[in-house]
Amino acid sequence: MDAGRKRELEEKVYSGERLTREDGVALYESDDLTWLGRLAHHVRTEKNGDRVMFNVNRHLNLTNVCSASCAYCSFQRKPGEKDAYTMRIHEAVAKAKEMEDEQLTELHIVNGLHPTLPWRYYPKVLRELKAALPNVSLKCFTATEIQWFEKISGLPASDILDELIDAGLASLTGGGAEIFDWEVRQHIVDHATHWEDWSRIHRLAHEKGLKTPATMLYGHIEEPKHRVDHVLRLRELQDETGGFVVFIPLRYQHDFVDSADGKVRNKLQARTTMASPAESLKTFAVSRLLFDNVPHVKCFWVMHGLSVAQLSLNFGVDDLDGSVVEYKITHDADSYGTPNTMHREDLLTLIGDAGFVPVERNTRYEVVREYPAPVPLAERRKEPQQVIA
Ligand code: SF4
Repeated sequence: MDAGRKRELEEKVYSGERLTREDGVALYESDDLTWLGRLAHHVRTEKNGDRVMFNVNRHLNLTNVCSASCAYCSFQRKPGEKDAYTMRIHEAVAKAKEMEDEQLTELHIVNGLHPTLPWRYYPKVLRELKAALPNVSLKCFTATEIQWFEKISGLPASDILDELIDAGLASLTGGGAEIFDWEVRQHIVDHATHWEDWSRIHRLAHEKGLKTPATMLYGHIEEPKHRVDHVLRLRELQDETGGFVVFIPLRYQHDFVDSADGKVRNKLQARTTMASPAESLKTFAVSRLLFDNVPHVKCFWVMHGLSVAQLSLNFGVDDLDGSVVEYKITHDADSYGTPNTMHREDLLTLIGDAGFVPVERNTRYEVVREYPAPVPLAERRKEPQQVIA
């Protein structure tokens, strides 16, 4: 990028002027990672100061049986496969109760599109989870699952959301978004939920008072222009509803060999690799710069590793997804040395070590607890340092 174009983009960012599609593509074409980081860090600091939010949550997948076969997915199993499972309601409650340590504030629940489970199962499981864990917020279901519930129940999404909210639903999850561009999408997605339905369902959720996350799966066969298009669609919807609370770029995971049976289920494996750490940091930075009306940008550390997670805090990110346990969607088969679990103390260390102030939040991004600013690095150097993978 020539110096004049760089200056033009800097002026836009520092004056708060909205960036265009062409600006987004130009930012992705820049190899100047520190420059991108500086711009994104300016925006991130304007919005969120030197705070980094995190939550204490657990992930629960009620079933891995799925009617779809999305090309990138290593999680789904077909009925009758050896390790296909579906939890009975009492099993789901017992599993959630097992996880109820460390003042858990959120359960994150996503599932396969089970071909025979009845719609009634889902509100029932929410009611029983809420009764067992009244202080825990239930963040459940992708827009894809909500559209699946429409299909199996014959009810419209509005009635489905009303019933789920009555049963304890606090938020949808942001999944099912992948990449909205149809040319790319038809190669990676096998379910029926595309932009029109994904946006319809999140719009409805926002109208009912829910705040929801939005995600983007990147680093597979898409090009940067598709990432720009994805974010601009979300930005436009956010102008309309204001209901997105966070944007989460999710790194496509390559090299999935299922540890249980040695199978490679990921059908994109032969066609692509995955985003490098530099590409991930660029994606965080450009996302922060383009998606100017979303309050937070999150790094889901499970998919990026702890080193990139720490660095991302200087590339527009101000939120780290919590103390995940059993994240099956990627941890079924990855071998990147990323842990399954981060406890509250681990997250405090990770954030403080990067020079930021940790703030524990709940599902709606309300502050649960503020922590002191970190001890300056120069003082910490007097003590042996904790080693982080
Ligand atoms: S991504 Fe979701 S809908 Fe697609 S195959 Fe996997 S579990 Fe099923």
